[in-house]
Amino acid sequence: MKKNREKSPKQRMNRDILIVTYIFVLIFVAIAAYYIYYVNVRSEEYIASTYNTRQDLQAERVLRGDILARDGTVLVTSNETGDGQERIYPYGGMYAQVLGYYGHGKAGVERVYNHYLWRCHVNMFEQIAHTARGELNEGDSVVTTLDPRLQEIAYDMLRQYDGGAVVALDPATGEILCMASWPSFDPNEISLIWDEINEDETSSVLVNRATSGYYMPGSTFKIVDALAAYRQYGTGIEDALYYDCEGAVTLQDAVTAEELRVACDSDIAHGTVNMRGAFARSCNGYFITLGSQLDLRTWRETAEDLLYNGEIDFALSNASGRFTLDGESGTWETMLTAIGQGDTLVTPLQNAMISAAVANGGTVMRPVIVNEIRTSGGTHVRDFRHEEMARLMTEDEAAFLRELMTAVVNEGTATNMQSPYYQAAGKTGTAQNTSAPGDSNALFTGFAPADAAPGERQIVVSVVVENGGRVHGSATEIASAIFDEWLVNR
Ligand SMILES: [Zn+2]
Repeated sequence: MKKNREKSPKQRMNRDILIVTYIFVLIFVAIAAYYIYYVNVRSEEYIASTYNTRQDLQAERVLRGDILARDGTVLVTSNETGDGQERIYPYGGMYAQVLGYYGHGKAGVERVYNHYLWRCHVNMFEQIAHTARGELNEGDSVVTTLDPRLQEIAYDMLRQYDGGAVVALDPATGEILCMASWPSFDPNEISLIWDEINEDETSSVLVNRATSGYYMPGSTFKIVDALAAYRQYGTGIEDALYYDCEGAVTLQDAVTAEELRVACDSDIAHGTVNMRGAFARSCNGYFITLGSQLDLRTWRETAEDLLYNGEIDFALSNASGRFTLDGESGTWETMLTAIGQGDTLVTPLQNAMISAAVANGGTVMRPVIVNEIRTSGGTHVRDFRHEEMARLMTEDEAAFLRELMTAVVNEGTATNMQSPYYQAAGKTGTAQNTSAPGDSNALFTGFAPADAAPGERQIVVSVVVENGGRVHGSATEIASAIFDEWLVNR
């Protein structure tokens, strides 16, 4: 019996080898486990701070994730190179401001969703297998709300002009469907062009004009005037003012006696107009006169309800419009403000939010640019919720503005936007270009269909074409192309 229990030298050696093997396996598992723990848990602490320069140490472990369009089209991807990885933007400048760039810091979605792009949620066994083969694990994909076809239309049409921006969104969800800005740059070349861009003080190609471009609202500001007047006069609005338009009005500053001639579009005499006709045909004389009648406090509160001097709760950085009238303002400034000039400023995104509120019965959804995070293999990781941002006006006020904005398309300055397939609504504008005196920008903000049934798909579009004032219909043509693609072509 005793002899049987005793192990031979060979058996003893086998046992030793086994123990050593177990120890190695344990060490390997521990290292792998720490690695997984690091990537999934600790990395968050490092990545969370955008000021932490060490965050890009992740680049040695994870291949930065893709940024996708809403239909899964790859808009940004990464490749492994001999000494690391490179970021690839297959569409060049088309998405440059909204998605941003990587290298020399980050911008846009690349900056705000940086943390998700460095995390990897593929399963642990795959991660270990990748690591064992000396490959990088692929970071998660960020799925944006952008529609590639709408973005292409917006970008290609904008490129025919000196500059500008287009933003389209779904008023029911707040999803940004396209966001284009021109002039642009190629984010693939960011390292090569960085010094040049920064040395040229006049270059603004990095600016996302849709969110941060300041423009005079021009006649799109008449939406604010009309709502303020409706709040002041209620159902008596159409009788509040009849104005006899002769095609132009000469303003005189009460203090300096300076004169300024403001023409209606092409000096057309509009005849006698009240609110509906004046709004539809954008009569400057009517609105300048109305401005002198408006209660300043109501006017200012209305502007602020419509996000002037406020902020838009949005993941991408954005500027807020400016309404500066107060008790100190002279008649001159008051008159110019009524037609969206002077010191009044708006961003294309803010104008889109105002139209979204009108389309949506008064409330606006918080704008969203990213809907979902997925693994590189397409497995769902997390969603981002759609939520209400604010109520800008009552349902009754929204209905009032919807009717005026519909009249603009049916009988006013945007009859070129009539379509047999849908009823569009909106407001056009032309405003001085602050950076190119003598030239003017063309604006449009609106939505379609204006008469949507509950649950029917709607789309909001806001456009600014820099120096597009000399081309009739430059802004409205872009808006129509977006409406057609979203509501008719699919
Ligand atoms: Zn007029």
